[in-house]
Amino acid sequence: MNPLDRMHAMQAADLPVHGGRTLAYVYDGGDPEVDRIGREAVAAYAGSNALDPTAFPSLLQMENELVGVACGLLDAPASAVGTVTSGGTESILLAVQGARDARPEVERPSMVLPATAHAAFHKAAHYFGVEAVLVPVGADFRADAAAMAAAIDDRTVLVAASAPSYAHGVVDPVTEIAAAAAAAGVRCHVDACIGGWVLPYAARLGRAVTPWTFAVEGVTSISVDTHKYAYAPKGTSILLHRDAALRKPQFFASAAWPGYTMLNQTTQSTRSGGPIAGTWAVVTAIGDAGYLRLAGQVFEAVDRIVAAVEGVPALRVVVPPESTLVALATDGSCDPFTLTDEMVARGWYVQPQLSYAGQPASVHLSVSAATLAGLDDFTTALRDSVTAAQAAGPVAVDAGVVAFIESLDPATLGDDDFDGLLAASGLVGESADGSLALPERMAEVNAMLDVASPAMREALLVAFLDRLSRPVR
Ligand SMILES: *Cc1c(COP(=O)(O)O)cnc(C)c1O
Repeated sequence: MNPLDRMHAMQAADLPVHGGRTLAYVYDGGDPEVDRIGREAVAAYAGSNALDPTAFPSLLQMENELVGVACGLLDAPASAVGTVTSGGTESILLAVQGARDARPEVERPSMVLPATAHAAFHKAAHYFGVEAVLVPVGADFRADAAAMAAAIDDRTVLVAASAPSYAHGVVDPVTEIAAAAAAAGVRCHVDACIGGWVLPYAARLGRAVTPWTFAVEGVTSISVDTHKYAYAPKGTSILLHRDAALRKPQFFASAAWPGYTMLNQTTQSTRSGGPIAGTWAVVTAIGDAGYLRLAGQVFEAVDRIVAAVEGVPALRVVVPPESTLVALATDGSCDPFTLTDEMVARGWYVQPQLSYAGQPASVHLSVSAATLAGLDDFTTALRDSVTAAQAAGPVAVDAGVVAFIESLDPATLGDDDFDGLLAASGLVGESADGSLALPERMAEVNAMLDVASPAMREALLVAFLDRLSRPVR
C-alpha cells in the first residue's frame, strides 16, 4: 500500500479536525480555503529550520510579523517583544523559567497560582523547581485576588492569572492580581493561551470582558496560542513580554563546545519552519476583519449552547461562560460520563472533567466558529444524549473497588499492580491479535478515575501511557 493511503486509512480512526464537532483539542474556523493555505505553507516549510534566523530569514520575518499582530491584539506597549513557541505549555514553561532566572538570589523560588491555573504551570514547577503555591478560587470560579496577594512572599518570583481558565471559561480579576504582584515587585503572567486571540474580538463585539491585556498595569507577560483561536495549524503559541529586559533570561547561548554557538529563545533548538509558516499564512489569510467575523460566529454558537442547556432540566452551565469555553454540569438523574459517551456516539466529541476539590464532574466544550453551522444538530444530540444517559442510569463503581482504590498508595505500587489495575479499570484490554485495545466507551473508566485521588489518577494514567507507547517492530 502507498504510505499515504495507509496513513489516511489509519487517520480515519482519529477525531475529525474539521466540521466544528470536536469540542476539545482542535479549533475550526470553518473555511476550507484557509485550511488549504495553512497546509500548503506547512508543507512548503516542513524542512526549514528556525534554529538560525540568518540562514532562514523568511522565518524570522514571519515570526516578527506574528508577534506584531499579537502585540496589536493584546494592547502591548511599544517596548513589547515576543517569541513564537511550539505551544501553550512551552510559552508557560518559558514564562516560569524566565521569572525564576531573573531572581537568582531567591533560594527556594515559588509562584502564586489560582487553583484553576492550567496544569502546564505544574509541569513548569516540576521542571524548574519552582514551588506552585495554589490559592483556592472564589465561588464564581475566579481567582481570589486578595488571597493571592496575601500568598505573595519573598520567595515569590511569579504570580499568574488565566484569561480564561480552561476548566470553567472565566477570566480572573487580572487588574487586582497584577497590582498586587507589581506592589511586591513580582512578575505577573496572564495565561491567555486559549482566550488571547478571541477575547479582544469579543470586546470589540460589545461583550463584557474582564480587563486582562497589557492595558492592565503590572502584567509583565502574556501567552496566547495561535493553534487555538487563531485557527492555525498545530505547533505555535506566542509569548509576549512587556519589554526586552523581561525576556532576556529566556535566551540561552552556549559556546562551550566545538560546534556552532547554540543560540535559542525556546526550549527547542532545531525548530520546524512548518508551524511558523502555517500560522503566518493562516493569520494573514483570515486577517483582522476575518477574526472579527469568526468571533461573531463562535459567540453566537456559545450563546445558543447556553440557551439549549437552559432548555434541558437535567443540565446547567457550571458558570456563565465569559469566553468560548462552556462547562456543563448534570443533576443526579444524568451521569456526566455517560452523557459524554452518548455525545461521542452522535458525532460530537465533548471532554469529561473529573470531580476535583469538592466540585462535581463536568463536561467541557471548547466551541469553534465552525460549530455554529451544526448547532441545531448539537442541540438535538444533547437532548437525546441526556435522555439516553438518564435511561442507562449512573455508572456505578463497586463499593469494594472504591475502598480498594482509596486504600492504595500509588507510590508503593509496582508494575504488576498497575497491570492488574489497568485491566480491572477497563483502560487496557487485549484485542484478538494480542495488541492493546483502547476502550470504546469511557464512562466506566472515567467513573473509576473519578473515585481515585489526584495522585492515583496520575499514576494510573502514566502507567496507561507507558503501556500504550511501545515499539511496533
Ligand atoms: C491549551 C492551554 C494551555 C496549554 O497549551 P498547549 O498548547 O496544549 O501546550 C495552557 N493554558 C490554557 C488556559 C490552555 O487552554
